[in-house]
Amino acid sequence: MEIKKKDIRALTKEQLRTFFETQGDKAFRGNQVYEWLWGKAAHSFEDMTNVSKETRQMLEAHFVINHIKVDQMQRSSDGTVKNAVRLHDGLVVESVLIPTKSRTTACVSSQVGCSLDCRFCATSRLKRMRNLNPDEIYDQVVAIDNESRLYFDRPLSNIVFMGMGEPLMNYNNMIKAIDKITSPEGLGMSPKRITVSTSGVPKMIKKMADDEVKFKLAVSLHSAIDEIRTSIMPFNATFPLDDLRESLEYWYAKTKNRITYEYIVWDGINDKKSDVEALIKFCKFAPSKVNLIEYNPIDDGEFQQANTEALDMYVSMLEANHITVTVRRSRGKDIDAACGQLANKG
Ligand code: SAH
Repeated sequence: MEIKKKDIRALTKEQLRTFFETQGDKAFRGNQVYEWLWGKAAHSFEDMTNVSKETRQMLEAHFVINHIKVDQMQRSSDGTVKNAVRLHDGLVVESVLIPTKSRTTACVSSQVGCSLDCRFCATSRLKRMRNLNPDEIYDQVVAIDNESRLYFDRPLSNIVFMGMGEPLMNYNNMIKAIDKITSPEGLGMSPKRITVSTSGVPKMIKKMADDEVKFKLAVSLHSAIDEIRTSIMPFNATFPLDDLRESLEYWYAKTKNRITYEYIVWDGINDKKSDVEALIKFCKFAPSKVNLIEYNPIDDGEFQQANTEALDMYVSMLEANHITVTVRRSRGKDIDAACGQLANKG
């Protein structure tokens, strides 16, 4: 009978050290292998050149390294790069490299598909197939860091969890991945350069606050009026705005970290003065800023980006209320790499 080999990166460093001891070897060997697995992101045991051949064969007999494979890479005319990432079981997710003058941002996926049902997002049509493992999230970051060095001659500077999936519905694995990304034994990046974007799962926002995480939080708000938000993000019926607001107040009280609200203004949906007034009120519960993002059409035209006047109204009313507002232009639209367009079309 064939025994299913375990993914070696599911082991902690301590577990790896113990494994070597049970094999009659030195625990220290575990540190060496751990360094290969994370710091050097080795793809195979063969790569571990300072580990003896016998040890490598022994590891091979017990474990696998479930490494991701970048199947297809597309480059946009604006420099954005989209990776179709094949997982060990054949499923595919997407991640995106977004370059600006001074930084490179990686937009990574946290799940295959998504269990939420935002009606304007292409990923929601894929349904949730499974959560990504910590190493699969980590590998996406390593791949983009390598591409950044190759194409832009600089390391990756920022990470946003704005690819496929809802990161707070895969909380433990997301946290484990971020631990590795920020640890000196992994990529050693500052958590301040990482933003986790959520549709708003109140219970998990409170958990993050209790865990005293150091990364930034962005919430995809899109409307501060329950009836409207539920019509475009149906799960809002389960997690209504009052609960979301309460969790965000809790987050700010514990972390003192300002919240970013991501917000798209659509024609005929949330382009009225009353919509802006509700948003302003919501913004006052905890220090926050608003990021007005451009809508990337995904379908039959049911949703249309509002006109410039509506956007200007948002900007001027928010500013008049001393709320910081930025308008973000989309990148990588020509290769379906922009927000909400990730749906494994290839
Ligand atoms: N589930 C998380 C992260 C993935 S979505 C979240 O909801 O935040 C990342 C961002 O893209 C969110 O702000 C989301 O609202 C936005 N988005 C989804 N579809 C979009 C579209 N078609 N055009 C522009 N932004 C979109």
